Amino acid sequence: MAKTAIITGGSRGIGEAMALKLGELGYNVVINYRSESSKSLSDDLAAKIKDQYGVETLVVRADVSKYEDCETLVKEAVAKFGDKIDVLVNNAGITNNCNFVDITKESYTNLINTNLLSALHMTHLVLPYMVNHSTKDEQCCIVNTSSIGGLIGVINQADYCASKAGLIGFTRAIALEFAGKGIRCNAIAPGMIMTDMLRGVNQDELKALAATIPQGFIGDVSAIAGALEYILTASYLTGQVISPNGGIVQQ
Ligand code: NDP
Repeated sequence: MAKTAIITGGSRGIGEAMALKLGELGYNVVINYRSESSKSLSDDLAAKIKDQYGVETLVVRADVSKYEDCETLVKEAVAKFGDKIDVLVNNAGITNNCNFVDITKESYTNLINTNLLSALHMTHLVLPYMVNHSTKDEQCCIVNTSSIGGLIGVINQADYCASKAGLIGFTRAIALEFAGKGIRCNAIAPGMIMTDMLRGVNQDELKALAATIPQGFIGDVSAIAGALEYILTASYLTGQVISPNGGIVQQ
């Protein structure tokens, strides 16, 4: 029977690469996005995954910082693909890139809701569709996109670092709580990856950034899709943080 995966923030960047990887691995893929401007991107991606890998897809607009939107997302996934969800990738995320004096309460609250609370909401809503089905041999997986900002401090990213470190704590606790039930939970903590998050940075700054990376270059989204594939196939891996980061951070 086909397996089902939900990915939040699947419209572009790292999420797009991971959605393609999920299709390649044979999962029916539920692609979530938030902005109206990403609707056509998400629809095109869904069609590409269907064509390329012969799996089914579903596109759902939802702001995952809101519990009610997460409920709609999970309901639509279950209505289309049935009451077993095999994989949940909590990937949606934003940055504010602001010092912690000028930043507003609204901005950092929105970031925590988007990057951290969304993962709690989605996991809370999806777990009932995992616990009754998963076994040692038919495992379900939750994968959280953290960041090296969850492992080290970064200037002007206090809210982001708090959200990403929070995701790591959440990953470890969920992994322990559900390890005996055939559910694995791991995090990916990417270093600097070329997506829209970095496209605003000018060429000189990008060069300077690349020079701070021991491997000497900014990563490609394929490195993160590769980490996802490893996690999904590594049946004895849970509660771990995999960090493709070019050597910036050593754990
Ligand atoms: P992008 O800005 O390219 O994509 C962000 C994705 O998140 C989009 O699909 C966006 O949807 C979605 N999203 C944002 N807010 C919401 C929301 N409230 N509800 C639903 N979806 C939402 O970023 P990246 O691909 O670079 O980042 C993906 C993840 O990887 C993030 O969690 C980020 O923190 C993390 N990361 C990225 C790094 C990098 O260097 N790029 C480094 C470390 C971690 P929409 O298209 O509709 O706006």
